[in-house]
Amino acid sequence: MGKSSKDKRDAYYRLAKEQGWRARSAFKLLQLDEEFDLFANVTRVVDLCAAPGSWSQVLSRVLIKGEKFGRTAWQDKEARFRQQMLGILPQDEQKTEADKTIDEQQEERKPREDVKIVSIDLQPISPLAGITTLRADITHPATVPLLLSALDPDFDPKMAGTQASHPVDLVLSDGAPDVTGLHDLDIYVQSQLLFAALNLALCVLKPGGKFVAKIFRGKNVDVLYAQLKIFFEKVIVAKPRSSRASSVEAFIVCINFQPPDGFRASLEEPLGVGGRLDEMLKEREAQKTDTEMQGAAAISEQGVVEMEVYDDVPEDKERNTRWIAPFIACGDLSAFDSDASYQLPEDHVSLDPVQPPIAPPYKRAIEMRAALSGSQR
Ligand code: SAM
Repeated sequence: MGKSSKDKRDAYYRLAKEQGWRARSAFKLLQLDEEFDLFANVTRVVDLCAAPGSWSQVLSRVLIKGEKFGRTAWQDKEARFRQQMLGILPQDEQKTEADKTIDEQQEERKPREDVKIVSIDLQPISPLAGITTLRADITHPATVPLLLSALDPDFDPKMAGTQASHPVDLVLSDGAPDVTGLHDLDIYVQSQLLFAALNLALCVLKPGGKFVAKIFRGKNVDVLYAQLKIFFEKVIVAKPRSSRASSVEAFIVCINFQPPDGFRASLEEPLGVGGRLDEMLKEREAQKTDTEMQGAAAISEQGVVEMEVYDDVPEDKERNTRWIAPFIACGDLSAFDSDASYQLPEDHVSLDPVQPPIAPPYKRAIEMRAALSGSQR
């Protein structure tokens, strides 16, 4: 397959090269931010599973350089309406881009002071202005102190677990394992990576902080949503326009981190499927009132339906609480369709990728194949 056929098949791949993004994923984060104002009031950010670095590029350009990638006034109004429906934005917060004065808009575009961004991946990330990059495994306990020291060189590891070790406003994770094509296996491995990201986020997030992570929507994903609701006031599933509709990929957007009383996060004793997290979920269920336990649909004040579904099991058996999170498609829905092929203009020139991988896992295989074909000549 030639470069230009991929340009034709994937408009966001082409657009990413034209706009200087290292990967098409940049558009997913931009579209999530458009919908949820992720970067509002944020100065400490951790980007997990960040290579080759397009999400970090977005962070660098928006937070450090103060660039604004905007939606139109109309899209802004629509997004605010949805945010009010979901209770993310107060009902009386009516101001839209169109209502703001030029001065107010300029003010928002200023680079923020004292921004710290740390990006982590198993793969090396080529340098980015203002961003600290770490080559580390997000599932390893040693990564948390490493990350906290990168955010603050004076951080004392003895302070781990105290309030001082929770300085982060936003944790992002676009983590994905190498996809095998075996649907259930891919979903399982992805969920393990998601739990690793969540555990790390619980160790470093400030109360009120936000967590955004990639998920693959599988059979039991609503159990995961119920688990996330233990820690965050709002949990929403979002599908950006630039994420292919044909893929199971989506993003959970968790807003307002509120750890339960007495909860202490630790990567030494991580939460995962089963064990401590299941216990916490049962405790939360036990604290609910009878009315809440009627199940069915809980309609929030703003009229948005959040559903709790109970599996139909005999009285003497435990019921499995699942919680159906609100789902939002985001990004300009009249923009490119990521599943469509587009006719390219005749004079179209296909560009090279902005940042080819520095040390991809397949590099050694290519070298061995080249050596082999050389020796056979
Ligand atoms: N957000 C990135 C961007 O915009 O350029 C793309 C991320 S890519 C889809 C997924 C990344 O997850 C890969 O670079 C992979 O190395 C990383 N990853 C997978 N498992 C990891 C782990 N245990 N620790 C750190 N990174 C991991």
